[in-house]
Amino acid sequence: MSYDFIVVGAGIAGASAAYHLKTGGAQKVLLLDRGGPAAGGTGKSAAIMRQSYSTTLLVRLAMKSIVMLRNAKTELGSDGGLHEVGYTFIYSRDMLEGARRNFAMQKSLGVVNKWCDGYGFPELFPEANPDGIAAMVHEPHGGYADPVRATEAYVDAFVRAGGEFRPRTPVRRLLGDAKRVGGIELDDGPLAAGSVINAAGPWARPLAESVGLDLPMRSVREQDTAWEVPAGRPIPPTSVSNGVDAVYMRPMGGRRFIIGRGFPKVYFDVDPYNYKTTADPDFIHDVQTRVEARLPPFAGMKLIEAYAALYDVTPDWYPFVGPRSDTRGYADFSGGSGHGFKIAPAIGAELAQWLIAGKVAEDFRQFSHDRIANGRLFVQSFGGNRG
Ligand SMILES: Cc1cc2nc3c(=O)[nH]c(=O)nc-3n(C[C@H](O)[C@H](O)[C@H](O)COP(=O)(O)OP(=O)(O)OC[C@H]3O[C@@H](n4cnc5c(N)ncnc54)[C@H](O)[C@@H]3O)c2cc1C
Repeated sequence: MSYDFIVVGAGIAGASAAYHLKTGGAQKVLLLDRGGPAAGGTGKSAAIMRQSYSTTLLVRLAMKSIVMLRNAKTELGSDGGLHEVGYTFIYSRDMLEGARRNFAMQKSLGVVNKWCDGYGFPELFPEANPDGIAAMVHEPHGGYADPVRATEAYVDAFVRAGGEFRPRTPVRRLLGDAKRVGGIELDDGPLAAGSVINAAGPWARPLAESVGLDLPMRSVREQDTAWEVPAGRPIPPTSVSNGVDAVYMRPMGGRRFIIGRGFPKVYFDVDPYNYKTTADPDFIHDVQTRVEARLPPFAGMKLIEAYAALYDVTPDWYPFVGPRSDTRGYADFSGGSGHGFKIAPAIGAELAQWLIAGKVAEDFRQFSHDRIANGRLFVQSFGGNRG
C-alpha cells in the first residue's frame, strides 16, 4: 500500500495540510494521529486570533486564516468556532516605537485596526487601572476560535473529500534516510509514501531524528488558567494581550476567561513525553495578582481550571514549513512557537500548493528549514510570544 502523502499529526497544522492536499488534487492522502484530532497542543490552545504581527508574511497568513475560519461552515461543512469578538493590544512606553511601525504596516495590508494613545477604549477594557498604559490598539476582526472544533472541521471535511484518517495510530519512526524519506513505520508494519509531512508538533523533533534529520525545536511548558469573574462586574468583550503586565486573556463565553502569561517570562524546557500537565500554585497566584491589579472588577475571580501544555519553539519563533532542498519525500509543518494556531489554516493551504503544484510565494519559502543552513532566520533574537 502506497500513499501520495502521509501527514503525521492531526493538530490544526496536520488537519489543515491534509484537507488542502486532498482538495488540492492529491489522490491518496493518509492523516494519522497517535490520539485523535487536537490531541496535542492544539487541544489546549487559547486560540487567540489576531492580525497584529511584525512581518507582512504573518499578517497575510493571519488575515487569511480568519477569513478561512469565518467561511468554514460553507467551505468545510461545519464551523470552526470562530468568535470575532475583537482583539486588543495594550502597549507600554518601551513598546511604542515598534507598535507604531507595525500598526502602519498592518493597516497598509488592509487590517482593520484603530489606535489610541494612553488608556482608551474603556468599553473594551472597562474600569482598568491606567498606570503604565502608553497606547492601545483594537482590531475588531480578531478574537478567538474553538481549537478542537476548528481541527475537527478540517479532519471531517478531509474524510468527506476522500482522505483516510487513522486515529490512535502512533508513528514509530520515519523510513529511509536524511536524503530520501520513503514512508513510516507503524506497529503493524511499514507504509510507503511519496512524501511524509511531519506535523507532530512538539514530538516532530524525535520523528525527524529517526532518519537523521535535524529539527532544532525546544519543547517548553506553557501554563494556562481559566477563571470566572463575579456577576455584576464589567468585563472585556475582546481577547487581550496586555504587554504592560505580560498577561494575555481571552473570553470563553459567559463570565469566564482563559488567562496566561505572555512575554517577558522564563520558558522552561521539558521532555515532551514526560512533563507536568497541571499548573503550579505560584503561577496561578502570579496571574491572579497581575490581573486583579490591572482590572479591579476581576477581584475575587474564581479559578475554574489550570493546566500546562507544550510550545514547540524554533530558534526564531517562526514555524518550519515545507520541503528541504537536501531531503526528498519529506516536508516540515511544526514549530508553531506558541502562536501557531491562528496562522495554521492558511499555512496548510499554501503548503499544499507548494507540494502539489510547486507554487510558493517567495516569503513563504523562507519558512523552510533551509533557512537555518542559509542563515536566513526571520528574527535574529527574539524573546517570546503573546498568544
Ligand atoms: C497553552 C497554549 C496556548 C496557546 N495559545 C495560542 C493562542 O492564543 N493563539 C495561537 O495562535 N496559538 C496558540 N498556541 C499555539 C498553538 O496552539 C500551536 O502552535 C498549534 O496548535 C500547534 O498545532 P500543531 O498541529 O502544530 O501541533 P499539535 O497540536 O501539538 O499536534 C501534533 C499532533 O501530532 C500527534 N503526534 C505526535 N507524535 C506522533 C506520532 N509519533 N505519531 C502519530 N501522531 C503523533 C499528537 O498526538 C498531536 O495531535 C498555544 C499553545 C498552547 C500549548
